[in-house]
Amino acid sequence: MKLAILSESPADEMALRVLVEAVLGHPCQFLHPALRARGWPSVAQVMPAVIRHLHFNTDATGLVVVVDADDSVVHTAEHERPEYFHPQCRLCRLRAVFRQTVKRLPPSHGRERILRCIGVAVPAIEAWYLCGRDNSVSEAAWIEGQARGRIPYTRAELKWRVYGTDRPTLAHEIDCALREVARHRHDVRRLEYDFPGFSTLANDLRHWHAEK
Ligand SMILES: [Zn+2]
Repeated sequence: MKLAILSESPADEMALRVLVEAVLGHPCQFLHPALRARGWPSVAQVMPAVIRHLHFNTDATGLVVVVDADDSVVHTAEHERPEYFHPQCRLCRLRAVFRQTVKRLPPSHGRERILRCIGVAVPAIEAWYLCGRDNSVSEAAWIEGQARGRIPYTRAELKWRVYGTDRPTLAHEIDCALREVARHRHDVRRLEYDFPGFSTLANDLRHWHAEK
């Protein structure tokens, strides 16, 4: 299976490779998405060009996209209803961009379309890295904090807990990210339970498997 990953940094991409293979239960071949993004909204802006590139110039099976939620509205079960779309939810937005982009493309390389796999890290990917190590960090804790108007931790605090600094070098960021995701290499259930924004990504991947 050939996949490309589009996320906010090269370090995220290295960690996501491990998590994607953990969900699928086998190694994958990873293609370069051709364009890099830096944070939101850059990911949403370059995604159509990345999809078109993968569709016409490669035989990639699918595209994995992961962004940080930051302070945006968190995707909930309510958003999964047919025709529902929340304009302040990044998962809803990215799914809409994906759908609108692939629907205009003719078949290419023997496939109708490339497959979609989207996750949103609440509030940032460092929260996923802390899963199983820091029990105070979870999507539920973040949502509860947002509702009370008092967030339980800042994104800078999460970076400190993972990297020991809020301005890590790329090499240090990659080392720390790989060390943390290694905990989930053989079992992603805890990560899925604590972070439904990861579970949507895992479900998209499993759905592909079922289609094969
Ligand atoms: Zn949503």
